[in-house]
Amino acid sequence: MTHQTPRQARVREILAELAAIDYALPGSIVRRTTSCGRPGCHCQADPPVLHGPYLSWIRKSDGQAITRKLTPEQEQRYRPWFDNSRRLHELITELQALSVQIAENAEGWQHRRP
Ligand SMILES: [Zn+2]
Repeated sequence: MTHQTPRQARVREILAELAAIDYALPGSIVRRTTSCGRPGCHCQADPPVLHGPYLSWIRKSDGQAITRKLTPEQEQRYRPWFDNSRRLHELITELQALSVQIAENAEGWQHRRP
């Protein structure tokens, strides 16, 4: 095993974790209650008892919001895919920060700020 700096070792860990991630869904799950507006409905009572909560998956595609209704079972089944997206983002952000530090250190750039 060649010598690794702590930063290089951390990069290896990040790559191993990245390799273990499988499906990753973009967007987020939102939980909403609604009011139907029908007179006499419990959602119009005082205090109101709203309909729902309903689960939706909302994501952006070409600048447009796309909504899909989810059953509680689907929400549970896909939850890890959303968690994977969040973790991917964290790992990539950390990998980029480490790469900047490694490159700056290797090139001596951090000592040459004006
Ligand atoms: Zn109602």
